[in-house]
Amino acid sequence: MQTIFDEFDREHLWHPYTSTIDPLPCYKVDHAQGAELTLSDGRTLIDGMSSWWCVIHGYNNPVLNEAAKRQIDRMSHVMFGGLTHEPAIELGKLLLDILPPDINHIFYADSGSVATEVAMKMAVQAHDNPKRTNFATIRSGYHGDTWNAMSVCDPVTGMHGAFGPALPIRFFADAPQCGFRDEWHPGDFDSMRQILTANSETIAAVILEPIVQGAGGMRFYHPQYLVELRKLCDELGILLIFDEIATGFGRTGKLFAWEYAGVQPDIMLIGKSITGGFMTFSAVGATAKVADMVARSQSGVMMHGPTFMGNPLACAVAVASTRLLLSSPWQKRVKEIEAIMTRELEEARGWDNVADVRVLGGIGVIELTHPVNLGEFQKRCVEKGVWIRPFGRNAYIMPPYMAVSDEQLLTLCTALKQLVKEEG
Ligand SMILES: *Cc1c(COP(=O)(O)O)cnc(C)c1O
Repeated sequence: MQTIFDEFDREHLWHPYTSTIDPLPCYKVDHAQGAELTLSDGRTLIDGMSSWWCVIHGYNNPVLNEAAKRQIDRMSHVMFGGLTHEPAIELGKLLLDILPPDINHIFYADSGSVATEVAMKMAVQAHDNPKRTNFATIRSGYHGDTWNAMSVCDPVTGMHGAFGPALPIRFFADAPQCGFRDEWHPGDFDSMRQILTANSETIAAVILEPIVQGAGGMRFYHPQYLVELRKLCDELGILLIFDEIATGFGRTGKLFAWEYAGVQPDIMLIGKSITGGFMTFSAVGATAKVADMVARSQSGVMMHGPTFMGNPLACAVAVASTRLLLSSPWQKRVKEIEAIMTRELEEARGWDNVADVRVLGGIGVIELTHPVNLGEFQKRCVEKGVWIRPFGRNAYIMPPYMAVSDEQLLTLCTALKQLVKEEG
């Protein structure tokens, strides 16, 4: 039997948002199957995180494994400059079928953050106007950890504290307050309207996560906000970017969250579950109008071309994952999961340390009144045989919806409530 905490790892390896001087423990995983992680000491944990929301079909999925193995034996990589290949073409066709109808061009990128960079560069290039280079967004958003992505993350919970003066200054509208199921209140859009109207000549695009704000606060807002935003952006000639990196591929109950509002973006980002969590990959979709604007700009081409652009292995796995999803009863399953989480988590509403309980699709959140003590929480969580990693005041579960059983989901919900209760 192996030790569960690794000395070398603790001494030498950086982990996300973890101190090197006084690190919280990192649990060693030996293997994973379906909705379960097996630690190096043999214990199993039911996974409530989908490995940061991407492993939608569960771990060690035979269909994805097979797609990867088949592609490895042909070529795992080949440059995309001047060359192309079947996996990229197949994936492109598949994506154009499921992305908003106006999306007509696809740029493959390496990760969600890079997709954000590409989208922002695309918007600036499309306008081709040295005055029109800034961006607006809403507070409580999250768009990744690279430079420009950081600049549009929430200025309080994001990384402005650490990088403040080094980041370009963006326009931040108030986060929408009308919840997803609340009655629409037109005043909710005032802050954004005011900012866009007053600064339209300098704003290239608005970037935001439609319906669900993920890592910036796990908030679900009203679809009408997007309808208003689309209308105003059209009036002012501002491009609209939807970041669906977290919401894509069924997580919210729709294949993509824009469908709740029925308004299409000019540029759309997908990532995370695009490969079913198999490996890193993302894509930026653009309308023909945006692609034409870029092509007619001074440079004439998108000025971005990563080494691993269109990686065949990632494309092949993305094709397999998307086909697997589309051929499964995903919509019914996400609805069932939503119903179970709604019923189970509701009990926590009104507890002294609970500010809110909310569920949408495969996302169940208990928002506490104070930040969670992560180290303690994590320890108790492993003791209960589940894997849940809260951030800030949000304790939430986003299970691998195509792999988790009802019984595993109930265990996750019960554990989450107990953990919140023990948090005090
Ligand atoms: C995770 C996430 C990103 C960043 O993706 P990475 O692959 O981690 O770089 C961007 N936007 C949203 C909405 C995300 O949830």
